[in-house]
Amino acid sequence: MGYAPLDVSNIEEIQSEMQKLLMRASLEAAKEDIPLRGEETRGFDFPFVSNAKQAIDAAVACADSRGAKAIGVAHLLWGIYSTDSALAKKMSDSGWGEEKIQTLCKEYSDGAEGSTGMDAYEKVKPLLTRCGIGYDLHRLEPGRKLIVGGIELPFEKGPVGHSDGDVLAHALCDALLGAAGLGDIGTHFPDTDPKWKGANSLLFLEHARKLLLEKRFVIEHVDAVVILERPKLGPHFPKMREALAKSLGVTPETIHLKAKTNEGVDAVGRGEAIACHVAATLVAL
Ligand code: MG
Repeated sequence: MGYAPLDVSNIEEIQSEMQKLLMRASLEAAKEDIPLRGEETRGFDFPFVSNAKQAIDAAVACADSRGAKAIGVAHLLWGIYSTDSALAKKMSDSGWGEEKIQTLCKEYSDGAEGSTGMDAYEKVKPLLTRCGIGYDLHRLEPGRKLIVGGIELPFEKGPVGHSDGDVLAHALCDALLGAAGLGDIGTHFPDTDPKWKGANSLLFLEHARKLLLEKRFVIEHVDAVVILERPKLGPHFPKMREALAKSLGVTPETIHLKAKTNEGVDAVGRGEAIACHVAATLVAL
């Protein structure tokens, strides 16, 4: 399994990463029928901190010192805080200093964070991942700005639409909402509402992010293909990934972008339209 390096700036992301890792670890433990603590945990791959083993050891020691039977998020937070000074600084800056984490450890009680083993596996299995697809197309006309993935590209035509007509943001929004079972972009941002006239579509993604968090979904991966004849999109991908990732609170590595032409066929091929398909995978916490 490959994890993105933990390049985080707030506690919310640290917690999301940890919860994902813990879920995977608990599934592995359930499959192998081994307990999720002590020596046995040391075989797990926790690459999100360079000194992961030290952090796990410190978490175990913290749990032991407080008589806890299982390792909770509070203990893991302490493990990371006490062994990784760079992350500790980020945590402190986000309001998660020593005192707060220690209070959490003190308040921790076994079982309150859920059980491990086959019971937990059975419980989480149906919620583990969700995939969604999204599609969008806009006509291209002269005199409109060409905005794709939140970035304005120099071109003589742009999408006709109620908002800024960003096909990538729209298809991505639909893929995320679909995966979370939350309807589609039209449900949340009707094009009859003057509020969204000319709107920056990154706002839709920021709103989708909030909706996903409310339902405890984390974005695992996004794969997109934008179809248009001209201009070339590839050189703009780094900026687009950055803009989309920022709106969604994920790392740019979470977002994969591709571009195709339509080989001169149909409206897209004649340069009269731009289209986009997106697949998104969410993890349920
Ligand atoms: Mg659209």
